[in-house]
Amino acid sequence: MARSPKEILYCEVCGQPIHGPVYRAEVDGVEMNLCPSCYVKLSRSGRAVLIRSRKPKAGVKKRPQPPRRTSRILEALELVEDYYERIRQARTSLGWTQAALAQRLRISESMLRKIESGKMKPSIDLAKKMERILKIKLLEPVEIEEEEDFTAPPGTLTLGDIVIVRRDEE
Ligand SMILES: [Zn+2]
Repeated sequence: MARSPKEILYCEVCGQPIHGPVYRAEVDGVEMNLCPSCYVKLSRSGRAVLIRSRKPKAGVKKRPQPPRRTSRILEALELVEDYYERIRQARTSLGWTQAALAQRLRISESMLRKIESGKMKPSIDLAKKMERILKIKLLEPVEIEEEEDFTAPPGTLTLGDIVIVRRDEE
């Protein structure tokens, strides 16, 4: 009888192994696994936002995930390579500390430190927020060029492809 060892998850707040449901939540903008008691504590103070519980709610049917064709349009935005320099420069020219900017972005200071040192990429949503607050450009549309020697055979165009190809003419 093959017994697969059960994966033990540790609460990323108190460090204790989690028995029972694991709460996947965003704490100060960082995704973490929380034990039930830490989740309850942090969600009461509004610091933890539940992403999803590992324990499905009774009565809620699991739906198979539909293919996300439309997400390709959203993914056509890409973070610029020197995003961390742009963020740091904009912040320092405004005279803000990392703490001040982190507070405005509602993320932790350590997360901002990681982003500004290039160790961590902000999510698209966070980058948009930074663009607004710092009045800089962090995202650019990805160029989707059709190369002549690498075209898909006719009939394989999906709806997503058609939406991307149809862009504004210059
Ligand atoms: Zn805990």
